[in-house]
Amino acid sequence: MHFSTKAVRAGEDHKDPTGAVVVPIYQVSTFRQTEPGVEGEYVYSRTGNPTRAALERAIAALEEAEHGLAFASGMGAVTTLILGLLREGDHVVAVEDLYGGTRRLFDQIMRNFGVGFTYVEGTDPKDFKAALKQETKMVWVETPTNPLLKVIDIKAASKIARDHGAMCIVDNTFMSPYLQQPLKLGADIVVHSTTKYLGGHSDLIGGAVAMSDSQHYEKVRFAQNAAGAVPGPFDCWLVLRGIRTLAVRMDRHCSNARKIAEFLSQHQKVADVLYPGLPSHPQHELAQRQMRSFGGMVSFHLQGGFEPCKRLLKHVKIFTVAESLGGVESLIEHPSSMTHASVPREQREKIGVTDSLIRLSVGIEDDEDLISDLAASLEHA
Ligand SMILES: *Cc1c(COP(=O)(O)O)cnc(C)c1O
Repeated sequence: MHFSTKAVRAGEDHKDPTGAVVVPIYQVSTFRQTEPGVEGEYVYSRTGNPTRAALERAIAALEEAEHGLAFASGMGAVTTLILGLLREGDHVVAVEDLYGGTRRLFDQIMRNFGVGFTYVEGTDPKDFKAALKQETKMVWVETPTNPLLKVIDIKAASKIARDHGAMCIVDNTFMSPYLQQPLKLGADIVVHSTTKYLGGHSDLIGGAVAMSDSQHYEKVRFAQNAAGAVPGPFDCWLVLRGIRTLAVRMDRHCSNARKIAEFLSQHQKVADVLYPGLPSHPQHELAQRQMRSFGGMVSFHLQGGFEPCKRLLKHVKIFTVAESLGGVESLIEHPSSMTHASVPREQREKIGVTDSLIRLSVGIEDDEDLISDLAASLEHA
């Protein structure tokens, strides 16, 4: 079955007694037992809920995994993976240009529990190999990275992890399973912030993981129930609703983003455009190999630093100045003062998140309107 068919049908429940075409919102905390201790399929909604189960089936189907699990946020998913799969003394090798919240969790919380982290640039897979220690249990990859949109070779990173007896985890939030399927490239576990493209409408916070190894799954499911970072039924239903249109939305995100990246690369006030779909992108060839298309995120450096960036953000009318990404509406942000402000300046600039950097989450509006908005605002920059 092709992806777009699966996206529309995944999670369906033909056992529903009413014949409801979509799985309803089971807004309930607990389920009746026929006799004391005789449990039905569901007992208590932290452990399992029918609406959440539909979402978990859908996530597994889209990532072509055996198992899916849904969480209250992307960070809830990341936290639960670490809690379920690692213990004191274990070590993780991660890409340095990670989502800021993941890096904050690793460095400011998980280190307190004795888990070690080493960060590498990662566009050369040898970086991962060089950072392995005897205690390394995970290689943590995000691709394309945020906000610099570097592309990391999932197949190579997974092989390095496997040869070492470690797991490879891929945060697939920026691509969605429509554009990239890490498990097929050898990764062990995929993580999502469903807040972004899977939900797709900037109206919920959620997370998910998918994997095929049953032992890993049992450990993470145990941690999900024990730690309790579970999503409510209504949020699960909203993600399921988003997933049905994922393929059509992503096609439009990609085509709009590509046109905007091309427009920006011709503009004399723009110093440099970072988009994996441009032939000038250093990993364009790898991107073509591992991604179906190049996604809806575009970053660029403006000539002249922070002041022109501020003027640009002040003048946009269709683009909304906001953090987050992956919704139908276009957003614009200045990473060094917004999403990445919590990363110390020195560390930020070392990886290339300078004051002249702008990040766009290109939505599904009309491409000509988006380009006119940027063209008019750049006049003031
Ligand atoms: C947003 C995001 C997260 C965190 O997800 P929340 O739903 O905000 O908790 C993790 N990874 C990436 C790549 C993200 O963009």
